Amino acid sequence: MLNQIEGLHHVTAMARDAAENNAFFTRTLGLRRVKQTVNFDEPSVYHLYYGDEAGTPGSVMTYFPFPNIIRGRPGTGEVGTTVFSVPEGALKFWQERLVAEGVGDIATGESFGQKRLTFRGPDGDGLALVEDATDVRSPWTAGGVGDDEAIRGFHSASLRLRDAGATEELLKFMGYENAETHKGVKRLILPGGNGADFIDIETLPEAPRGDLGAGSVHHIAFAVEDRASQLEVRKALLDTGYQVTPVIDRDYFFSIYFRTPGGVLFEIATNEPGFDKDEDTAHLGAALRLPRQHAHLRARLEASLQPLEA
Ligand code: ZN
Repeated sequence: MLNQIEGLHHVTAMARDAAENNAFFTRTLGLRRVKQTVNFDEPSVYHLYYGDEAGTPGSVMTYFPFPNIIRGRPGTGEVGTTVFSVPEGALKFWQERLVAEGVGDIATGESFGQKRLTFRGPDGDGLALVEDATDVRSPWTAGGVGDDEAIRGFHSASLRLRDAGATEELLKFMGYENAETHKGVKRLILPGGNGADFIDIETLPEAPRGDLGAGSVHHIAFAVEDRASQLEVRKALLDTGYQVTPVIDRDYFFSIYFRTPGGVLFEIATNEPGFDKDEDTAHLGAALRLPRQHAHLRARLEASLQPLEA
């Protein structure tokens, strides 16, 4: 069993409208935009990162906004709900705020003994907030949401699977342990993780496979400390029979990717070097940053990418 995984690193999803996506995550949810760059594999499209002050692994929601992309169709083989952690007593504030903003499908409930508010992002994204009194992570509070309510980072993500078995085995190989099962949802926990420690598995044997589109999660990334740990994980996965990509330099972290038995795309990303690699922490996310291989496209991209703020 591996001991290098530290919890979630980031979750990457698809959107249709970059400005709408930016407004929702920075203004409505009060996260910090920690990086404004492009999709390294398709530089005509933004890659936007939202998180805490530094973009700490375990706090970072990222989006590829593809103009004119059609909505995804929720199903199996993908992340169902991405869940953020907020302080105890904060959900009343959030419910009022989300209602006032016209956010869709707001519902209160309880999950594994914690109060939970589910809602939809601008493209139907499956999102939720959970009150977690034990979360000691520091929030970003310069985005208009105060310390008593602000998002601390990810709490968990759910995987929707037709058959959970092999994915559950994989997560245990990655260091996760069974926590409990509640209303048919199986929770796994990474002991001693970075705070974004839970994966919930929803088994839906009859459901169709999800179709990727706006509002869909593209992949979910797990954190490792550094490149040496990443290579150990890569070798272990290869030895177990997984098809794993070579290490890819994403400028702010190094990545490997592999498709899980249940169809979800997993990434293992390093905590190093971080989002302050090419701009200081005070100005993270303010300007368009381009990786070296796309720097020559700057003038064209600045003319073609949709402005993020009106
Ligand atoms: Zn990623």
